[in-house]
Formats: sequence, C-alpha cells, structure tokens
Amino acid sequence: MKMFFKKTGTMQALAVLLLIGGTCLFCGCSRQTQRIQMVDTAMGTIVSQTLYIEGRTIREQQDIVQEILFCIHDLEQQRLSWRLSGSEIYEINANAGEENGIGLSPKLSEHLNACLRVSEASQGAFDITIGDVVRLWDIDTWAGKEETKGFVIPSESEINAALEKTGYQKISLQDNRIILPKPLQLDMGAVGKGIALDEIKQILEEYEEITGAVVSVGGSILTYGTKSDGSLWNVGIVNPSETSENIGVLKLEGGWCVSTSGDYERFVEKDGVRYHHILNPETGYPAESGVRSVTIVTQNGLLSDALSTACFILGEEEGLALAEEFEAEALFVLEDGRISMTEGMQQFFELTVE
Ligand code: ADP
Ligand code: MG
Repeated sequence: MKMFFKKTGTMQALAVLLLIGGTCLFCGCSRQTQRIQMVDTAMGTIVSQTLYIEGRTIREQQDIVQEILFCIHDLEQQRLSWRLSGSEIYEINANAGEENGIGLSPKLSEHLNACLRVSEASQGAFDITIGDVVRLWDIDTWAGKEETKGFVIPSESEINAALEKTGYQKISLQDNRIILPKPLQLDMGAVGKGIALDEIKQILEEYEEITGAVVSVGGSILTYGTKSDGSLWNVGIVNPSETSENIGVLKLEGGWCVSTSGDYERFVEKDGVRYHHILNPETGYPAESGVRSVTIVTQNGLLSDALSTACFILGEEEGLALAEEFEAEALFVLEDGRISMTEGMQQFFELTVE
C-alpha cells in the first residue's frame, strides 16, 4: 500500500521520497493553512507525513513533525522491540518462565489483550508468539536482495522445532500482568506500525491547528481531518502482479487506519517459488490461501494491522467473516485476479480503469 495516486510507481515514488528524506517541504495552500510534508525512516520502515497546519511558524511546524517521528522511535525503543534491551517486550521475553508473571504498562496490556482477541477470533492464524518461525525463515534478511544464494529453506524438522515454541493459548494475561511460559517469546512485528498510527492520532488531536493529515508508517496509513480543499484522502491499492501500478484507490474521510498485508511486500524467490513474510502458524510455511493482498480499513490502527495479517492467512471466505466480526472493512486481491470486499468497503473503493 502506498499513499500515492494512481499509476505512481513504487520505486519511482520511493526515489522521490528519499530525495526529500529528512527535510520538510512547505507548500502554501492558503494564507492560513500550510501543507507540510516530511519523509524519514523509523521502525525499520519509511514514515511519510503530510500535515495541514494553520497559523504556526515554520519552526513550530517542524517541531510537530519531529514529535511524531520521535513518538514512533520511542514506541519501538521503549515498548515494542524484541531486539532492543530496555523495551518492555524485550524484558518480558527475558523473564519468560517467571511463575508470578511480569508486570505490564497499561498500554502494552491493552495491545496484548487486543492481539489475543484477534488470535482467538482467527483461530490462531494471527499469533504474536510466531517469532521463532519468522527468525528461522529469515525472509527480512533476503527480501529485495539481488543475490539470494545464501537463502536456505528450513527443513521440516527445523520448522516443527520452531513451531513447538509458539502458541498464543499458552499466554496468560491478568490484571496488568503476563505469564509467558518458556520457551515462548513475544514478537509484535505484525502490529507495530498499526499501534504507531494510534499513537500518532493522539498527538494530532492535541493540536487544534492541525486541520488534516495523512501519515504512513510502512504499509499502514492514517487519515485525519480534512484537506484544505475539502476533497477526500486517496489511498492507493497496489496491484500485486505489477507493483508499480495501483489497481484502485480508497477515497477516505479523516479518522481511518488502512493496513495492507501482501505477498509482494517482502519475499524471496527460489527455484520459481515465492517465499513471503506472512506465515501460517499451523504449517510454519508462508501462507497459501489464494490471496495476494488484504487491505483493512478500521478506526483502530492495531486492529487494522493485526486483521490484515490474519485475513491474509485465513483467505477470502473466513477472512471476510473475521473482518465483519470486528466491524472492519476488508478488500482482498486474489490469486485468480478477482477483487473481493466487504459491503462497506464498496463505498470507499474506486477501481482504476485502463
Ligand atoms: P508488514 O510488517 O509488512 O506490515 P504485516 O503487518 O502483515 O506486514 O506483518 C508481517 C510480519 O508479522 C512478519 O514480518 C512477521 O514478523 C510477523 N508475522 C508473520 N506471520 C505472522 C502471523 N501468522 N501472526 C503474527 N505475526 C506474524
Ligand atoms: Mg499486519
């Protein structure tokens, strides 16, 4: 998912983004409202902000942009990273096996409760204990690289051994404490970007002067308020078979979180087979559900991110039912070329006509 308009190439877009990386562009929309754009990296992905701000100095506008960026870094470093010692998740993983459990901040407790709700509703298709299997495949290391000779497909026994260390059902959450039995480990990789959107929305709400914004953190996008010309926000849906093109666009008011999970986002090809980064916790292999991508629209970032992953694994029929259970809108791009969506999604989606 890219927040560019129809037919904007991903690589092309990226190049433009990188050119303006770390800098702010100011475009006068009217005397009172400024449009400020900024692209940077955080959470290992590209963060792009477009903010419409009224009556602030350039310095103050830059400060708001930096505050948003800092909030994403902070979320990763203090709360969500399984790699960085000092984050809450890191400490929980380090203390797995603690019989009395480990204390949780109210926010992490809320995230974990929401994740477990999605795990239960998806019958384990979404599972934040899948980290060991993710590490075994190591898709992130090889994705996008030209030279992939070193990529090794894990053996059946390695996969089974890694699967032994998973199972969200073994987690117990109570009164802001978690009991995480050994050798389970938590990995919030599938929801970090969505959670970031929820935090960013809170910051935007603190500033009356921000009249509209669209912020993307990797494949998750937040729309907020209105554009100064009153038009809707456009969020492109990438064509998985031709990622330089969009198959359509979502026309959204402010207040929505949009997340996409696709087999074209991070993958390695070996002997003509595509191994992508969304794994089926039942098999330990990349999910094969007839789906190329799933886009979810909800008002909650964590849910949009978790549901896009879960729906990808479940496939069209069960995925649509799961989205409806959470009152989320879903759009599936399927391997056979069809596009399938919830009824509510139809009001947002416009197909690109050749
Ligand atoms: P992205 O990270 O590109 O936004 P997703 O939100 O779909 O994509 O999350 C995929 C990431 O989630 C993977 O890279 C992996 O770390 C983790 N993951 C893979 N399969 C699952 C799963 N079944 N349940 C939970 N997390 C998963
Ligand atoms: Mg996701």
